[in-house]
Amino acid sequence: MSDAIKELKKQLLSGKKNGYDRVKPEELSAMEAYCTDYKAYLDAGKTERLCAAESIRLAEAQGYKPYVRGMDVKCGDKLYVCNRGKAVLLAHIGRKSLAEGAQIAAAHIDSPRLDLKPNPLYEESELAYFKTHYYGGVRKYQWVTIPLELHGVVALKDGSSVVVNIGGDAGDPRMVITDLLPHLGAEQSQKPLGTAFSGETLNLLLGSRPIGDEEDTGRVKLAVMQILNEKYGITEDDFTSAELEAVPAMDAVDIGLDRSMIGAYGHDDRVCGYAALRALLDLEETPEKTAVCILADKEEIGSDGVTGMKSAAFDTFMEDLCAAQDVPLRVCFEKSFCLSADVSAAYDPHYADVYEKRNAAFLNYGVGLCKYTGARGKAGASDAGAETVAYVRRVFDEADVLWQLVELGKVDGGGGGTVAAYMANRNIETLDAGVPVLSMHAPFEVVSKLDCYETYKGVKAIYQA
Ligand code: MN
Ligand code: MN
Repeated sequence: MSDAIKELKKQLLSGKKNGYDRVKPEELSAMEAYCTDYKAYLDAGKTERLCAAESIRLAEAQGYKPYVRGMDVKCGDKLYVCNRGKAVLLAHIGRKSLAEGAQIAAAHIDSPRLDLKPNPLYEESELAYFKTHYYGGVRKYQWVTIPLELHGVVALKDGSSVVVNIGGDAGDPRMVITDLLPHLGAEQSQKPLGTAFSGETLNLLLGSRPIGDEEDTGRVKLAVMQILNEKYGITEDDFTSAELEAVPAMDAVDIGLDRSMIGAYGHDDRVCGYAALRALLDLEETPEKTAVCILADKEEIGSDGVTGMKSAAFDTFMEDLCAAQDVPLRVCFEKSFCLSADVSAAYDPHYADVYEKRNAAFLNYGVGLCKYTGARGKAGASDAGAETVAYVRRVFDEADVLWQLVELGKVDGGGGGTVAAYMANRNIETLDAGVPVLSMHAPFEVVSKLDCYETYKGVKAIYQA
């Protein structure tokens, strides 16, 4: 190739490069330190309630105070509200009025899991089980024969609630869902993957040791209930008003001999939740516009409900802040920008045919910007405007953020959504951006450390823009 052609190629064509060929070497230790903190955040927050509590703990350590309606809202204030223990909204009040808009990052901290049913406890063939109802998109076969732990609350009629943690601490017993042995799996193995495992077989094995006399019945179930009663003071009826979630009993670990990746439960979307939170907490000075971090619940089941992104809880928080500055909420929203910080599907060479390689997200290519999500011709997507994408390109490039423009998969290959549409529906300019994930929604997902760190840098740049 002649030099002229080489030069023309460099000028006119986009040369995608691996992030390791572009990252500044001096940033690698900061990346590693960030990822160490992120792994601890994951281990401390395996459910939305635990993650919300851990997020608040980190925020309070950086001077964030609970916002109470009617409080003054001044430049430099660091405020948060917790929505019913399951979602957190934080704001660092900027130098400019909220009439100039806010710079928002919205991530979700709920992840696919197995919730206990309202009447969960039963005994069958002298074994005790909890029945579950899966939450979010799970491939059921991935959840059997792995150790599981249980977290959540039992709310009592007197208004108090009991925090449950079975398996979360070192040395605790764990639970498991059993599976058929291959020797007897001939018939099951003929079934399509989606139907071979029924939701009604996703039952947690709890105990096998009976109490009482041999002529008694239900002795294993009673023994389990006795243990729960001794530990938590609850009876079987109390499950009626409980939220108990079975999640993988695995801590976050480095993956790969080069330690370039992190394997863990719940990267979707705590990897972006942590980036959004940490970037806010790390702001060295008061931002020009108010920076807002949203850690939402219920994204995995459609963002409905009082703690989901469709809830007026967000509008109420913003309206309260705006009211303190005599700014109408609608004026703030139309000037605001939101990075909908959620994960995308990383290209997996084993399943190349579901991706469109020219528009797929690649591990180590940086934070993935996603103009649209949706399915069947972008249905359900907010489809960010070209100007919005250009704005983020500029902000990211000026801050040396490594990014890639991505799609979820092949046209008509499936689809998915994020909270982006619910933010955009509020008249807030919104663009999806997040970390590419391998094995998304599996009990153990994989991300690259470089992409985690670039996402953090990207969110920080947005807050500071
Ligand atoms: Mn997500
Ligand atoms: Mn998801």
